Amino acid sequence: MYEKILTKASSAGIFECGLIKTSQLNFRDDIRKICEENSCHSYGKSWACPPAVGTLEECKERLLRYENMLVFTGKYDMDGQFDFEGWGKSMKDFKKLVWKFDEELEDLKDSLPGYLLLWNEGCGVCKECSYPDAPCRFPEKMHHSLEGYGLWVSELARLAEVKYNNGPNTITYFGALLY
Ligand code: SF4
Repeated sequence: MYEKILTKASSAGIFECGLIKTSQLNFRDDIRKICEENSCHSYGKSWACPPAVGTLEECKERLLRYENMLVFTGKYDMDGQFDFEGWGKSMKDFKKLVWKFDEELEDLKDSLPGYLLLWNEGCGVCKECSYPDAPCRFPEKMHHSLEGYGLWVSELARLAEVKYNNGPNTITYFGALLY
């Protein structure tokens, strides 16, 4: 199955990926605290982030129903350190990459029942999120954020043996497939 998933990841345009066991995951309260500090402005503003995703314990329980986590990345070129336009575009491109991966996985649905995809930092599908007044408008497009599950991305990179940083003038985003 792993080989088939890798083929799909490659077709989707995923830059790099590595497999870990969910038993290796460290669900960190301090990472959830960073969410609460709200430097990304998504805390309490999106169905994709805490507190909407549940408590740390609930997130942990949700992920531990799966045995495997494929950690994957998208890598994007930036025009220098202050390329805010490039930063915004690459963030959108990464979300599109996750959707493409999801589409590719359609063929493997019978072998990957109930798989779960996580992405990074909030949602951004709608101009304004419906949270908390109404249900998510596009639950099939929305994915929870890795950080909201108390996962430290650089630790995931180390465990999965994928690069956290791909060099100057690039930005690397992380997602995960649970199966
Ligand atoms: S799809 Fe829209 S409503 Fe749902 S979490 Fe994303 S921004 Fe909010």
